[in-house]
Amino acid sequence: MKAEDVLKLVEEESIQFVRLQFSDINGNVKNVEIPTQELPRAFERGIMFDGSSIEGFVRIEESDMYLRPDPETFAILPWTTDGIKSARLICDVYKPDGTPFEGDPRYRLKLVVEKAKKMGFVPYAGPELEFFVVPRDSKGFPVAETLDRGSYFDLLPLNQVESLRSEAAVALRTMGIDVEASHHEGAPSQHEVDFRYDELVRTADNTQTVKLVLKTIAIKYNLHVTFMPKPFFGINGSGMHTHLSLFRDGENAFHDPSASDGLSKTLYYFVGGLIAHAKEITAITNPTVNSYKRLVPGYEAPVNIAWSKANRSALIRVPAARGKSTRIEYRAPDPSCNTYLALAVMVAAGLDGIEKRTDPPLPIEENIYTMSDEKKAQIKIESLPGSLKDALEEMKNSTLVKEVLGEHIFRKFLELKRREWREFSISVTDWEIRRYLNV
Ligand code: GLU
Ligand code: MG
Ligand code: MG
Repeated sequence: MKAEDVLKLVEEESIQFVRLQFSDINGNVKNVEIPTQELPRAFERGIMFDGSSIEGFVRIEESDMYLRPDPETFAILPWTTDGIKSARLICDVYKPDGTPFEGDPRYRLKLVVEKAKKMGFVPYAGPELEFFVVPRDSKGFPVAETLDRGSYFDLLPLNQVESLRSEAAVALRTMGIDVEASHHEGAPSQHEVDFRYDELVRTADNTQTVKLVLKTIAIKYNLHVTFMPKPFFGINGSGMHTHLSLFRDGENAFHDPSASDGLSKTLYYFVGGLIAHAKEITAITNPTVNSYKRLVPGYEAPVNIAWSKANRSALIRVPAARGKSTRIEYRAPDPSCNTYLALAVMVAAGLDGIEKRTDPPLPIEENIYTMSDEKKAQIKIESLPGSLKDALEEMKNSTLVKEVLGEHIFRKFLELKRREWREFSISVTDWEIRRYLNV
């Protein structure tokens, strides 16, 4: 869709307001609403906003920034406020001199796509979005409690969450996103929504939309959808396993029909690159203090840096599908990440493996959770960083992450996240009270 098509549609559909959306460094959706009359101007010159008020953007002295809507992202919002119809457009962020803002996460992802293109590839991604649905108290605040005792693929027909999920799927379809599956996940109150894979920028945009739609519709049911990675101790956390593939001239470059396992050298090098850079990119794929409470043994989340053609305790799995569906599944990310940045670092790591012809280690087919430490040491299986602090240490020395994020986000991210870690490390937790109050 081009700008003129959008303007026509807005008129035909009597849309009165358009929300211009973009994402901050943490992946939170920000938006400004403009009346439709302003839309032609937004397309031509962009809409000015104060960049200094956005987390991770710029200093007060250089705060004028411009939002330029991407007409391809036009979607009518599936809800109305007092009968007023609105639409949304996802924007790119520009500086007053008309060049892209180097701290815009969407722009960073576009640069990785460019890089892939230069190498002859079009990357695709499909995330599996897991989340918990929790109740609200009488004041409307979310409460950390589960709503059911359900487990994987359970059918709970009388549960409101079933309706929430179906309603969200219908709403998303009207916005151009095909939900391929949605189901109850392994833990009580945990659910998953899977939508159709696509090119990277579209997939990151879609992830933002799916999160927003789920959260918005949940309000109607007086429920809350949380993408916090590990809200409850003792049960599975929420991951955002990401399926990745590369296409070349319309063919899946991960597939090689002549190989005994059907997997190309390109896939092997891509896996090699991800394994080589896994530690450095973890702060981006798992960016919160809480992310590391999920990455522990026994809860279907990865801990060890290994790959496998089947087993789900590994960091990277190659699902059985071949042909056009040949892909890898990177299982570390969780849904608290900024999807633009997470896709950018994952794909950049894989591409680096292809460039450097990085051989992956041998695939591990046995359950790594139950493997002895001696055996792991012997076959040199390393672990992902165990805390946000360790992950930041790994990231700090990474030239790959620095290049992908750009100087601006790299610096801001470290600054922000170090502060987050410091706040956590001086806070007194419930666990400490339980453990030490009797001392
Ligand atoms: N919830 C698990 C995780 O934290 C994944 C479960 C699954 O395999 O879908 O990654
Ligand atoms: Mg799942
Ligand atoms: Mg999965």
